[in-house]
Amino acid sequence: MSEIIKIEHLKKNFGKNEVLRDIDLSVDKGEVVTIIGSSGSGKSTLLRCINLLEKPSGGQILYRGKSILDPNYDLPAYRAHMGMVFQQFNLFSNMNVLENCIVGQVTVLKKSHEEAKKKAIENLKKVDMERYIDAKPSQLSGGQKQRVAIGRALAMDPDVMLFDEPTSALDPEMVGEVLKTMKNLAGTGLTMVVVTHEMEFARDVSDRVIFMDEGVIAESGTPEDIFGSPKCERTKEFLHRIL
Ligand code: ADP
Ligand code: MG
Repeated sequence: MSEIIKIEHLKKNFGKNEVLRDIDLSVDKGEVVTIIGSSGSGKSTLLRCINLLEKPSGGQILYRGKSILDPNYDLPAYRAHMGMVFQQFNLFSNMNVLENCIVGQVTVLKKSHEEAKKKAIENLKKVDMERYIDAKPSQLSGGQKQRVAIGRALAMDPDVMLFDEPTSALDPEMVGEVLKTMKNLAGTGLTMVVVTHEMEFARDVSDRVIFMDEGVIAESGTPEDIFGSPKCERTKEFLHRIL
């Protein structure tokens, strides 16, 4: 398998608070990696370092073998390869569903409106939202908004999709439809890094599960390893608490 992202000795401090301490992680093409762990353990900060929404305090992040921290690195192009889905959808409320999925392609990827529209519809189909192209975000349920946000990110043709607790802000009855959408995407060979509290999803869909604790990767392995026979005491405690 080919390695898309390689993280070495990654550190991030906020003042004196060492939020990430010596993280090593690599992600292969087509892999689905889920990151679990208690609130405050550094999961979001790790994702935000991967697409450089946060600047690492130390260590290295390589994308296809090149350091994204190199001052000459083309960051806008890099970011365009990283699709990001947040807890809070972040749709543009003044635009309808279709426009939401077109705007980034036209402004960032410099595509024609026609081309962008085709791609938008194609990807809205993947998240089962093509019937809502004329709707405004305010007319949609939380689950529908999140599926549009996923479709919008996909329309940018990302190399890697990063999800930060995409179902945490949803009413319980809407969690399933978003997880199902994500499961379908995982089945298409998309490379995904998913921070989640949904242990069933982590168990069923991941190739690899990472357990973070106080800024380090305390344990990582296959879902069978982590859920079936966790080795680290902190993993056991966490799973005992959450399951
Ligand atoms: P998680 O996503 O696992 O809940 P976070 O990565 O959000 O954890 O946060 C890890 C720690 O970093 C927390 O102690 C949090 O308060 C701190 N932190 C996160 N973002 C910032 C920031 N922008 N400024 C200062 N501290 C932050
Ligand atoms: Mg978080």
